[in-house]
Amino acid sequence: MRILVLSDLHANASALNAALAAAQGRWEQIVCLGDVVGYGPDPNEVTSKIRELGAQTIRGNHDKAATGLMPTDDFNPIAKAAVDWTRSQLSPDNLKWLTALPHGPLEVGGIVLVHGALQDEDEYVFTPEQALEGLLDSNAALTFFGHTHHQGGFSYLSASNHLEILNLRPRSSESFAALRLDAGSRYLLNPGSIGQPRDSDPRAGFAIADLEHNVVEFWRVPYDISGVQSRMRAARLPEALAQRLSLGR
Ligand code: ZN
Repeated sequence: MRILVLSDLHANASALNAALAAAQGRWEQIVCLGDVVGYGPDPNEVTSKIRELGAQTIRGNHDKAATGLMPTDDFNPIAKAAVDWTRSQLSPDNLKWLTALPHGPLEVGGIVLVHGALQDEDEYVFTPEQALEGLLDSNAALTFFGHTHHQGGFSYLSASNHLEILNLRPRSSESFAALRLDAGSRYLLNPGSIGQPRDSDPRAGFAIADLEHNVVEFWRVPYDISGVQSRMRAARLPEALAQRLSLGR
């Protein structure tokens, strides 16, 4: 079974379509770690596409904010403006679907999905200390998380009590980097963000987990960033959100 793992789509249809084109024929099941909407100009297109693909999806903080499940008091003004715009755009049907999304952790096909941290969907996992809980307490040896928009992750070998930071991003000249999974290790992996990468590589990020061959591929694919920026400007979304797409930050 090969699972296509998407996260932090952020209503960026061009990035999603580029990722799906690159991944075509390479997966049997598709999952999504949340933040389907927020920031980007295509909330309905992206939500409809994810529904149509039948992706097992958990909610992210931006999905909660856009649907009113979460107050936006602690969002910065730019993020809040995008939340308000997104809510005004979503069709009643897509709004209803997003509102009903389950929270993580969710077990799917032998792996566990979370948006932020294992016990707190809104918490960021950047450091080994923050990763430890997910590595030790998850119901599966392989757990995927999102929220940070940084592709990569952590492994933990219980026999030697060794926690390792995995630098898994493909080089700019390459499309993917592969990680071989060891039987005795546990993994907490971030597929990267489709719609708003923040790890200095502006290409759309995703992962493909091949559970039969114990390999996870970390992908980056280019997409039409300027087209997305034009749609954002036409929608009068904050300029800073458009500009950061070019930087991948
Ligand atoms: Zn996000």
